[in-house]
Amino acid sequence: MTLTPVPFRQFVLKVHSRCDLACDHCYVYEHADTSWRGRPRHASDEVLAKAAERIGEHARAHRLPAVHVVLHGGEPLLAGPARLRRAAELLRAALPVGCTLDLRIHTNGVLLDREFCRLFDQVGIKVGISLDGDRAANDRHRRFADGRSSHAKVLAAVALLRESEFRHLYAGLLCTIDVENDPAAVLDALIELEPPRIDFLLPHATWDTPPKRPPGMGRTPYADWLIAVYDRWTAAGRPVPVRIFESVHRTLRGRTSLTESLGLDPADLVVIETDGELEQADSLKTAYDGAPATGFDIFAHSLDEVARHPGMMERQSGLAGLSTDCRACPVVRSCGGGLYAHRYRGDGSGFANPSVFCGDLMKLITTIRDLAPGPAGIPEQSVPVEPVLTEAQLDELAHGYGSAPTVTALAAAQLGLTRRLLAAVAAGRAETAEAWELLTALDAKAPRALDAALAHPYVRAWAVRCLNGEPGADLGALAGTAAVAALRAGVDFELELPVHEGALRLPGLGRVLLDRAGATARVTGDAGGFTVRTAAAPLRIDWDTPNTPNTPDTAEGGPWQPVRRLVLAGGWTVALEDTDPQRDSHQWPVAGRLTGAEVLDWAGPLQEAWELIRRDLPGYAPGIRAGLGTVTPLTAGPEGRDISAASRQAFGAVGIARPATAPILALLVAHEFQHVKLGAVLDFHDLYDPADDRLFHAPWRPDPRPLEGLLQGTYAHLAVTEFWATRVRAYDGLRSDAADAARLQLATWRAHTVDSVAVLAGSGSLTALGERFAAGMRATAEPWLAVPVGEQAERRAREAAAENLARWRARSGRTAPAGT
Ligand code: SF4
Repeated sequence: MTLTPVPFRQFVLKVHSRCDLACDHCYVYEHADTSWRGRPRHASDEVLAKAAERIGEHARAHRLPAVHVVLHGGEPLLAGPARLRRAAELLRAALPVGCTLDLRIHTNGVLLDREFCRLFDQVGIKVGISLDGDRAANDRHRRFADGRSSHAKVLAAVALLRESEFRHLYAGLLCTIDVENDPAAVLDALIELEPPRIDFLLPHATWDTPPKRPPGMGRTPYADWLIAVYDRWTAAGRPVPVRIFESVHRTLRGRTSLTESLGLDPADLVVIETDGELEQADSLKTAYDGAPATGFDIFAHSLDEVARHPGMMERQSGLAGLSTDCRACPVVRSCGGGLYAHRYRGDGSGFANPSVFCGDLMKLITTIRDLAPGPAGIPEQSVPVEPVLTEAQLDELAHGYGSAPTVTALAAAQLGLTRRLLAAVAAGRAETAEAWELLTALDAKAPRALDAALAHPYVRAWAVRCLNGEPGADLGALAGTAAVAALRAGVDFELELPVHEGALRLPGLGRVLLDRAGATARVTGDAGGFTVRTAAAPLRIDWDTPNTPNTPDTAEGGPWQPVRRLVLAGGWTVALEDTDPQRDSHQWPVAGRLTGAEVLDWAGPLQEAWELIRRDLPGYAPGIRAGLGTVTPLTAGPEGRDISAASRQAFGAVGIARPATAPILALLVAHEFQHVKLGAVLDFHDLYDPADDRLFHAPWRPDPRPLEGLLQGTYAHLAVTEFWATRVRAYDGLRSDAADAARLQLATWRAHTVDSVAVLAGSGSLTALGERFAAGMRATAEPWLAVPVGEQAERRAREAAAENLARWRARSGRTAPAGT
């Protein structure tokens, strides 16, 4: 299980419990669960008000920037306009300031008329319509009780939504697959209706009630059907986003899925029934009678209580919650065992099985993978595709900046990601059981201490390496993180910690050098310090101050080598990380243990650099102070080159080889922290199409760059440009070598930045949010073009850019400076 439940972000609010169609594939009325029979027909005002209150309470408690609510049924339009208006108004009123409501209704469309559409326009409800394809396909199941077709009425509903007045309400089409329908006809019929998105849904089934597999259609008819659709969709230029295909693409690249039917992302959905009962996902209705029930209801229980329900927790446990077969499966990080309900078998194994669609899922994923190979990236990022930032915070970051609250929000999201990665690595494994148990106990007893331990940047780097099966990723190292959390909490503990190359590591705190070390050591800790037991005599390390494990004896040459922390002006504390082996995550070789003199060599320039950042980069400094806690010294670059790097897997850290001057150190810190911020944004928000694997011209480099590389570089150079601009202004027309050098730097970087924003904007691959970032970066960079730098600097900058472009052309064989 995860250490703490993931907060709910998706809420299915049942506003009506009956339907005006009698579709024979409906999981609400035609499958195992019969609880609908005892429910009130519609949600009362009391239920709606309490549901809104609970959702608002949950959003406030977890500081959710957005919640997604689907008004559902039965057929929700049967609830009538007045009740739907009331639901929307209550929900909007209940949410805290800064939390966005994404409100939708999923309907069969039969009753949708102009009156409903006007209402939805007024109260902000988007509409998803269930439609199984062309008339023949739709009529196979979606009929009235007397057998009449619903197709014409549904098309009329879609036609309304396509009118310009209501087009913005059109959320998409949901199509349940029947393999006896013609896949080409289904896709063509859906595309013709110009939906903003299509969802293809597998019919609900379990091992006890398997899906139909018609004779002569092979063993994987669902994969074959979807692959036929995929091929046609691809040949047509992918005119409409299709959620299941996008999810396979994303998960193959290590990104999050867009559907709970695929991937390892924790479930974050709860259902509120018409009587106020809180239930798990509706799809469970297909498993057995009462399967979705939790025993909780909105009048007596908070949403946090239901989030801790074992059924909910199990659906949040990622890889650890899957069957043995799935855990060993080569496509598990894309498939995730399929939809939870589809794993059910009533032989006592419950949900601990692969999906009943296992063969289909395997074939679909591997076929798409082989058709569209791409960079896999990290195999699991089990985070919900949910915004973690408010619109205002996103705009601030889009302009390149980031206030302390914004960067703190990014850090909180990163912490959640680290927790889920740890859960995916550790839960259920015997070798991590002891450490996991301690972490879980600390989560309840001392969550702040646990958060502080998990905020160490290289905990995530370690977890990702474990998930990737990389060498040097020792599962036993989890005990080190658990020990650090316990030491920070001042809680007694005893753990077995690994010893590598004669050292026992406490990530973020330091390392103990051991004589006669074996492979492991027994460590006991308490509020005053800790004791290490090996074959040699026990070794005791005492803190100077109880519960403050960063101020023990720091005498050089002793067995305890703490991470040194520098407290800079204004109280900004930076760790100089030189003990954690995971710090080699920055693409350049790391420096070894710093001597006391070397620490002093860092302290002065870092202090001076921080003063410069505060003075010259006031829009960047608060974010740096809020989010940057670790500087990892790197070995000096070749020929005195300035070396620095950030790592996508190490939020809060930058790697730097100490440069010759404090201003350059300031520049490197600001530059790299831009990468840190943008990487954290990209973990949760799509700024560009990850399927775009073209290479682009980055004006500052001769070699072609992928889109993300171009975006990252542009974002970092915003800070670089501003740094030089403020220095040029400070020289105020003075002539000197330093002033001329600053003018050349400004002329160079502002041109590069503005030019690369133009390349990004012209790529055609930015998402709407990506376009906001491009606009924000342009707005920040362009004013610097007005700072006078002199003809000579302008000319030399142009010459350097032209030289890079010529080299890029020679390497890429292209002439146009956009994508290749
Ligand atoms: S393809 Fe089958 S075995 Fe692999 S993860 Fe999916 S359901 Fe499990």
